[in-house]
Amino acid sequence: MPTVGVVAVQGDFEKHIEALERCSIPGLIVREVRVGEDLAQVDRVIIPGGESTTVGMLMQRFGLAEALQEAASNGMPIWGTCMGMILMAQTIEDRPHQFSLGLLNITVRRNAFGAQVHSFEDEVQMEGIDTPVMGVFIRAPIVTDIKDPAIPVASYQGKVVAVRQGKLLGTSFHPELTDDVRLHQWFLGI
Ligand code: GLN
Repeated sequence: MPTVGVVAVQGDFEKHIEALERCSIPGLIVREVRVGEDLAQVDRVIIPGGESTTVGMLMQRFGLAEALQEAASNGMPIWGTCMGMILMAQTIEDRPHQFSLGLLNITVRRNAFGAQVHSFEDEVQMEGIDTPVMGVFIRAPIVTDIKDPAIPVASYQGKVVAVRQGKLLGTSFHPELTDDVRLHQWFLGI
């Protein structure tokens, strides 16, 4: 049975679980992942939106950080939305001491579109998806540097807002907060 995990330490993980359920994939099992050992029971995992400083700290404490790094090196598909992408980045701009998993060969800038009041929605064209998806940006990061083997898969106003590196995917925005499940379906197909 295909089993997808959602990191459920803090943030909007329930929205991802609902979106995965809306994909109506027969037999799909969705599990919450909180500690390192939980990863052994899933074959792919989503890191949701939330607070990257808090979750980074808790991930280290619960053995989840190391388990995610090991899973990624064993080829597990991992998708991070917003906070998730920040945590997957190699480098967080101007935050040399903030923990990240270092999975994607990118540098991100947190809160790059301004404060909470500057949250917004707009259409984003993603490579591999034929018509635009609605991008919900909430204190969203942008990708300010990207190196091989990471590649940009979406830009917004000239800024990279989605990247792919093999089976790893990062998006600045939150598809789980829309009715459109095409990105979830696409991720389940990796
Ligand atoms: N700005 C948050 C952070 O830096 C991310 C916001 C989000 O996930 N919507 O952790």
